[in-house]
Amino acid sequence: METVAPINEIIDVIKESGGDAFKFCYQCGLCDTVCPWNRVRDFSMRKIIREATFGLTEIESEEMWRCTTCGNCPRQCPRGVEIIEAGVSLRRISTEYGVFPSPVTPVRGVSASLLGKGNPLGEDREKRADWANGLSVKTFTAGMEILYFPGCYLCYDPRLKKVARATVDILNRAGVDFGILGTRENCCGESIRKTGDEELFKRLAKENIKTFVENEVNRILVSSPHCYHTFKNEYSEFRVNFEVVHISQYLFELIDEGRLELSGEYGKKVTYHDPCYLGRHNGLYDEPREILKKIPGLELTEMVDALEDSFCCGGGGGRIWMETVKGERFSDLRIRQALDVGAEVLATSCPYCITHFEESRLALEDGEATEIKDITEILQEVI
Ligand code: SF4
Ligand code: SF4
Repeated sequence: METVAPINEIIDVIKESGGDAFKFCYQCGLCDTVCPWNRVRDFSMRKIIREATFGLTEIESEEMWRCTTCGNCPRQCPRGVEIIEAGVSLRRISTEYGVFPSPVTPVRGVSASLLGKGNPLGEDREKRADWANGLSVKTFTAGMEILYFPGCYLCYDPRLKKVARATVDILNRAGVDFGILGTRENCCGESIRKTGDEELFKRLAKENIKTFVENEVNRILVSSPHCYHTFKNEYSEFRVNFEVVHISQYLFELIDEGRLELSGEYGKKVTYHDPCYLGRHNGLYDEPREILKKIPGLELTEMVDALEDSFCCGGGGGRIWMETVKGERFSDLRIRQALDVGAEVLATSCPYCITHFEESRLALEDGEATEIKDITEILQEVI
């Protein structure tokens, strides 16, 4: 076996970037057995960790950028290694040096757009509330029941605007006193943080926190599990504490309190995909399913990888902005799983999942046999 001399300077840089947790790894390889990448190609987080402990990380390689931060491997690790955080620490070094392998280069444009326009899509800030045109949506003011924070993709993406519109339709019908921030809303910053751009994350978070505080926001309703995760678990690093509610929790609450009546029928076979940042990262498995179960006529079925074992769509960890070659897209496999259980509808509750599933649905020969729906879109049809 080749003897490798540790490169201490690089080991120190990795430690300084937050990768000290690597030292606890004892190379059992359990992380690799559950990683979704190994269903589409060879990939070894264990190897990345090994290289990092010897200071042999190649920052120009794509390998460290593959992790979608799906959360599957940390729960398996017998040594409690904070695998996601340690992996992000390597990306921090790449980001600092501005070295990106070609599939990752779109992140440069995303960062520039986040910095200048507050969204990753290169859209004008002034158009952030255009999705709400013609709908009865107020601007948030102090004293309102809840702030609705749709997030970047629901504000700008043509497919996902439908989800924002379905959401406000439901909220209005339930008589909820809510408002939006409109052009004062910024990207939550969750995904750019996972690409290693800590500075930009902090900037976005501070701007949002300032807006929330100035507008006396206490309760925030979000559609994206990524906004949910960062507002709830990461913004607390800035010593603020807002009550954050995901739309699946809120809709469950509205139905449970009798504020929302389900009068229509939805006679379709539906399967539910747990988004990583709602399920594994935040333990929200029941509410979306309970909503679907309450819908008259709806038949709920489970895919082979469900709940804690949900199969990642491939969009977390900033991968939503990176190129994934054909044949390696996790979402293709997930659509196949939905088709295998005969689902007419693949329901979920995350803009990244919907984006990837819609792409895969069109790319697969028989993909159009299943529709992709956010749970709000299904609910809208039966109220
Ligand atoms: S599961 Fe944990 S200890 Fe095992 S190789 Fe992966 S990081 Fe190391
Ligand atoms: S978090 Fe998910 S994608 Fe990342 S290495 Fe672990 S299992 Fe693989």
